[in-house]
Amino acid sequence: MSGFAPQASSADLGVYGLGVMGSNLARNLARNGYSVAVFNRTLARTERLMERHGQEGDFVPAQELKDFVAALRVPRVAIIMVQAGAGTEAAISQLADLMEPGDIIVDAGNTLYTDTRRREEALRERGIHFVGMGVSGGEEGALLGPSIMPGGTAESYRRLGPMLESISAKVDGVPCCTHVGPDGAGHFVKMVHNGIEYADMQLIAEAYDLLRRVGGLSVPQIAEVFRDWKDSELDSYLIDVTTEVLERTDPATGRPFVDVVVDAASQKGTGVWTTQTALDLGVAVPAIAEATFARAASSSDRLRSAVRTAEIDPGTADQPPMSDQERRDFIDSVKQALYGSKIAAYAQGFDEIATASQRYGWDIDLGAMATIWRAGCIIRARFLEDITRAYAQDPALPSLLAAPALSSALSTALPAWRRVVATSALAGVPAPAFASSLAYLDQLRAERLPAALIQGQRDFFGSHTYHRVDDPEGVYHVLWATEDRPEEKWD
Ligand code: NAP
Repeated sequence: MSGFAPQASSADLGVYGLGVMGSNLARNLARNGYSVAVFNRTLARTERLMERHGQEGDFVPAQELKDFVAALRVPRVAIIMVQAGAGTEAAISQLADLMEPGDIIVDAGNTLYTDTRRREEALRERGIHFVGMGVSGGEEGALLGPSIMPGGTAESYRRLGPMLESISAKVDGVPCCTHVGPDGAGHFVKMVHNGIEYADMQLIAEAYDLLRRVGGLSVPQIAEVFRDWKDSELDSYLIDVTTEVLERTDPATGRPFVDVVVDAASQKGTGVWTTQTALDLGVAVPAIAEATFARAASSSDRLRSAVRTAEIDPGTADQPPMSDQERRDFIDSVKQALYGSKIAAYAQGFDEIATASQRYGWDIDLGAMATIWRAGCIIRARFLEDITRAYAQDPALPSLLAAPALSSALSTALPAWRRVVATSALAGVPAPAFASSLAYLDQLRAERLPAALIQGQRDFFGSHTYHRVDDPEGVYHVLWATEDRPEEKWD
């Protein structure tokens, strides 16, 4: 038993939950000059933090939760960083019982925004500010500077903001942290950030697969291609990660590391949430959905082995080997396809945020979201500068696809992107996120869509009615069951 002595009202804020994320966040705060109360359900973790890192700053360790709360200066700020779900629910309820009106409870875990909205409403009735806060950057980000997406009241941000901004990542001195909006807005934006991350990873994985299986490149050659792409508009943390993974050789077998890893991608659920939420909001996010489905398909042993052994003739034609020039052209085409698809995937994510912002009255500044994703987080990328600029030029931009700089980049990418999608289909190498991103763009730029036919079908079998192009406000129905099938206008 360590017997930490209780200390009254001395800490600037506290961190509850000292797993890898909580410890690193507490250390980051302490290193930036804040006095940080620390508490963990199991005392051993608090002791370990104090033993290993107690010298890094002013920590106020607490053995009991009541001592932790008593150690916080008023209005109190307690950041919860515990296991998502039941752990978070328990921590919030214990803290709320010990805190007072005006105090602030921050949930920094990955929580579904609807839970955050519910909790914020319940705690608001008790006078306690509840802040759902997205934190991205993994354990290294938490320690060295994450991208931080806090929701909750503007009043709570006035107390929290300066501390969070000082520990966040910075780009040219600008913090990667801003007040996202009320109640669940912070967790919503973090959820979509993760959805975009799923899409970005899937797109990169598809590029790798095409370079290998269609382009005939070896794994080290592909690593070199990704390293080259760093000096381009594709420059991003995920491209760096990909290069490192592809450069690794398995010490046990001497084979490329990527070849000894089981090809079943796991997930913790934020891609599913982003997709489900998009469906609820009526927003199309095909690249994010395809990325989530691709992980599910990769993990379905039963389906994969049944279909693999069904001896389906793939209908693919043997391709003659590529000449060096053809291979160089193909590499460049895949790069264009990756960039075009990436623009489409980000456009989908931003559309989901914009739609939710309107639905819930959050008034989210989309340009500010691109700004705080420029460093610290997993999707940090050079390309976010273009998005920041696009929203600075037109804060009411209806879609990123329509931003002049990005639409011209799409025009450049499209011919090669189309060739890559067609090649992948002909070669039988799946590229669902490339293909669905292209279809998304083509849908949105089409003068007419076959949705008109769907409206006709719906009216035929369900009297669901339709609007006419020459009377878009009017509601029409055809009496399909009668012999002369007249059209009626309904009031
Ligand atoms: P974790 O493994 O998700 O959680 C471990 C912590 O949760 C421990 O401190 C544990 O306490 C505590 N805990 C579990 N159930 C509890 C309960 N019922 N009551 C009180 N405490 C409980 O840790 P993590 O990886 O550091 O993640 C923490 C949070 O950050 C999660 O919500 C996660 O989604 C989010 N997050 C993680 C990352 C990442 O890269 N890991 C990135 C962004 C966000 P004991 O020591 O007593 O077991």
